[in-house]
Amino acid sequence: MPYSSPTEPQHQALLQAARSAQRAAYAPYSHYQVGAAVLDERGRVHAGCNVENAAYPEGLCAEAAALAAMVLAGSTRAQAVLVVGNGGKNNSAWTTPCGGCRQKLREFGGPDLPILTANPDHIGPLYTLAQLLPESFGPDHLGTLEIRP
Ligand SMILES: [Zn+2]
Repeated sequence: MPYSSPTEPQHQALLQAARSAQRAAYAPYSHYQVGAAVLDERGRVHAGCNVENAAYPEGLCAEAAALAAMVLAGSTRAQAVLVVGNGGKNNSAWTTPCGGCRQKLREFGGPDLPILTANPDHIGPLYTLAQLLPESFGPDHLGTLEIRP
């Protein structure tokens, strides 16, 4: 089943959940708060925030937290993702998933997975996972799961 962009109500639900998660982020070191929300195949929204750690590499990204919430709720298929951050000076840069999170998203979504961006005030560009992680390696390469669109 091909992906489609979220409907306006879905987009608003993702935006609200991600912005709420961003406000809850634990980022005492970088002060770079990020919120993410994932829409699953049942239309449910799962949110996550970044959680930093004094041992820096042990921190957790918002997207990973949102994916964990989705899996905990019984879903393994993302339909859309929205990431909110305060990028650059005066919010001049959009927060996109880091390289590691792009791969984490690939586990639960195919190349056409819509990835939306936003900051606290505005909606940002829409990408596909393939734009952010071209020629990616996913579960279909291992032959254990069917190829996703
Ligand atoms: Zn990340």
